Amino acid sequence: MVKVDKEKCIGCGACASVCPEGFEIVDGKSRVKNEKARCIDEAINICPVEAISK
Ligand code: SF4
Repeated sequence: MVKVDKEKCIGCGACASVCPEGFEIVDGKSRVKNEKARCIDEAINICPVEAISK
């Protein structure tokens, strides 16, 4: 299960930018939209604070 740690997330938007199918920014934090999106790993790698896990 793909998760965003909302304590760590700084809302930079990088995950939603690299993987719009998988993430959306809601109220300044990233939220998982579709954990089966094929770009999830790219988002995990690009997150500057390692807030995304699976
Ligand atoms: S890349 Fe990381 S810090 Fe930036 S919005 Fe996504 S989860 Fe949050």
